[in-house]
Amino acid sequence: MRKTITSLSSALLIFIASLSFTSIAKSAEFFTIGTGGPTGVYFQTGNAICKMLHKSAISAEHGRKKGTAKAYRCTAPSTGGSNYNIGQIKAGEFQFGVAQSDWQYHAVNGSSKWEGKKFGDLRAVFSVHNEPFQIWARKKAKIKDFAGLKGKVVNIGNPGSGQRGTMEELMKAMGVDNSFFKSTTELTSSEQVKALCDGKIDAFGYSVGFPNGAMEQAATCAAKASPINLTGSEVQGLISGADYYAKAVIPKGTYTNQKKDATTFGVKATVVTSASVSEELVYLVTKAVMENFDDFKKQHPAFGFLEKKNMIKDGLSAPLHPGAIKYYKEAGLM
Ligand code: GLU
Repeated sequence: MRKTITSLSSALLIFIASLSFTSIAKSAEFFTIGTGGPTGVYFQTGNAICKMLHKSAISAEHGRKKGTAKAYRCTAPSTGGSNYNIGQIKAGEFQFGVAQSDWQYHAVNGSSKWEGKKFGDLRAVFSVHNEPFQIWARKKAKIKDFAGLKGKVVNIGNPGSGQRGTMEELMKAMGVDNSFFKSTTELTSSEQVKALCDGKIDAFGYSVGFPNGAMEQAATCAAKASPINLTGSEVQGLISGADYYAKAVIPKGTYTNQKKDATTFGVKATVVTSASVSEELVYLVTKAVMENFDDFKKQHPAFGFLEKKNMIKDGLSAPLHPGAIKYYKEAGLM
């Protein structure tokens, strides 16, 4: 008899255990945040967001009754960058993405590269770090300004990246096309530094947060590269013609041997989503970042200057998602 009871109760335990496994599997929802190249700041940004969300989920589990909330699991793979991410969100493949403020603007308004492909359902969540647009040139190429790029080998970035798009906007403002250079390459952000260090290219254009490990590598490898100034009336015209651009400076000493400030224009990195992503998910993602803010800021040195009150407005041209608004109102930020 005792034997029967024991085996009965272990069978019951196995049954209950398998039931709760099924319910976890059923209630967990997986979602994706599109980032950028593995050596950039977007990759760190997406993964920091996932980390904050998973951290919040663990602490919430102690306080809530089992089974009352859905579990979300997040991944933030490396991607081709801003425009690729927005395209994947539009296609419903990604739920979030990191994107430059200029490409957020163009996608939601159907301008520039997004002409005829307007994504009216694009929604903003918050902005993150500043991304000065930088042209890094190897020392021996003796490039001092944009004009100095004439006849040089220049990486303009992979299609789909924000850097490629912004480089093209800059070229338009300067009144040049690819024939201005000796040749152009379409290397990704993680390939371009090695190419510069190996002397295969003379310069590359990149919009990225700072300080950044890959740029330090460009400054210290055989190329002894540094960022050039991008100033003058054409650049001033870009800045005064659009809210998504601003003057930007990479202060001297940010990188090894960088003796002078690099003055340029820049954009903001922003986190975007779609109107079709649930209010609950956007609320939880927003809350996880904002309520673990000190920890979030420690995830990358480029986050050092972040302030919540600026993050909910700067660089955002798409409407805020209702899930983000719900959190900002609840937290008294709006
Ligand atoms: N701003 C770059 C882009 O949109 C990515 C920068 C990064 O990966 O940190 O392509």
